[in-house]
Amino acid sequence: MTLNRKCVVIHNGSHRTVAGFSNVELPQCIIPSSYVKRTDDAGKAKFIFGTYDMIDTTAEKRSDDEVYTLMDSQGLPYNWEALELQWRYMYETQLKVSPEELPLVITMPATNGKPDMSILEHYYELAFDKLKVPVFQIVIEPLAIALSMGKSSAFVIDMGASGCNVTPIIDGIVVKNAVVRSKFGGDFLDFQVHEKLAPMIKEENDMENMADEGKNSTDVWHDANTWIQQFKSTMLQVSEKDLIELERYYKEQAEIFARQQEQLKQMDQQLQYTALMGSPNNPLLQKKNFLFKPLNKTITLDFKDCYEFAEYLFKPQLISDKFSPEDGLGPLMAKSVKKAGASINSMKANTSANPNGLGTSHMHATAGDNANGSSSNNISPEQVYSLLLTNIIITGSSSLIEGMEQRIIKELSIRFPQYKLTTFANQVMMDRKIQGWLGAVTMANLPSWNLGKWYSKEDYESLKRDGKQSQPANASANTN
Ligand code: ATP
Repeated sequence: MTLNRKCVVIHNGSHRTVAGFSNVELPQCIIPSSYVKRTDDAGKAKFIFGTYDMIDTTAEKRSDDEVYTLMDSQGLPYNWEALELQWRYMYETQLKVSPEELPLVITMPATNGKPDMSILEHYYELAFDKLKVPVFQIVIEPLAIALSMGKSSAFVIDMGASGCNVTPIIDGIVVKNAVVRSKFGGDFLDFQVHEKLAPMIKEENDMENMADEGKNSTDVWHDANTWIQQFKSTMLQVSEKDLIELERYYKEQAEIFARQQEQLKQMDQQLQYTALMGSPNNPLLQKKNFLFKPLNKTITLDFKDCYEFAEYLFKPQLISDKFSPEDGLGPLMAKSVKKAGASINSMKANTSANPNGLGTSHMHATAGDNANGSSSNNISPEQVYSLLLTNIIITGSSSLIEGMEQRIIKELSIRFPQYKLTTFANQVMMDRKIQGWLGAVTMANLPSWNLGKWYSKEDYESLKRDGKQSQPANASANTN
């Protein structure tokens, strides 16, 4: 069996798409998972992909241009025609190979419940009928990330654009019932940053356009991918504990300090001068500056304001009481761990009864294959907690906000005080941003074709014929 195969690997996130080859460490391109549609005078539509082309196009501010996305709020594609155009764009201009030449591996997020068959059918149709790829594999993103980091059990926290996905994996099985998702992620932060800064920008300059209500999709996209992106990476911070607690703590410190000063003053009048000069150092009141490039202006914020944005991910109720505290990342992570503990044994029983994985779909075949060794042993909820909490993987670009890892540890340690916690977060910024793609590359490079679940056109045809019930034969014979 040949090991030096080369595959095309595509990761379509809700914010960005990463594509490259399985035998090269870095991807060929990282482009937005969106495009600009421009209609010329003759009524002909032009689709513009690629970061720089999109930034240039949206900067022109043509009122009839529109930005469209490819993925829905769950991270699944819904705009299939545009997805085809995007893949063709990547094959032609970035990868510079024909889709017919190489096997294709793509990622999908883990879902709570059965994978939507219509999504799989659309993918097969796109891969086999439209692009005519020879063989095709879909890997579950968090599972691929965990396995690529050498972990068959992990608690994967993926903080992306459309939200945060929390996926428990035990012995190579995604515990589907326990997959949870928060809708608060990078896109939500983009909105909050815009809301907070718009009045400041308006105040500082009469360029009202910046804060206008009537922005169209190209303006919103342009802002999110230029100055808001810079603002998020340089200004946002996560406080190590609950921001309200932290504020209370510094307030108490200030009161203690004031009392001490008062006592000193009373003890010795000579100290009065020094006592009055001193002041407690409240880090939350320190200032941070941001250069708002469109107007070449400096915007100054308190540290507290910078902490507040990311605090919303943990406490969305601070924004509006319409949001439940249960949707915060802390309660969601705890829910996921507890659900995993409660459901793993029944899931394992199903898995051993059906070697194709969790009794639902071929999508979990890789997981099932990896789980064979231990699926017969029962495992207590406490063991599950311990397995998950000592293998916490933090990934996704929104997790790059300073202090995020410590806060996640804090949130979990409050809820699981008796367990040891160990987190793994790639310290190389670029690798964290493309972790899903790197995971898929590892799956594409497994030492044997048999270890992956490859589909060929014939498998797809027989799947269609058998009413999507049949399991395809291994595709290795078709690929060598
Ligand atoms: P999803 O996981 O929702 O499918 P994705 O995988 O396409 O999304 P990621 O690259 O994980 O997206 O995350 C993109 C989000 O992270 C965007 O909102 C982007 O603005 C934000 N982001 C990128 N870099 C940073 C950074 N250094 N600090 C904070 N946020 C960042």
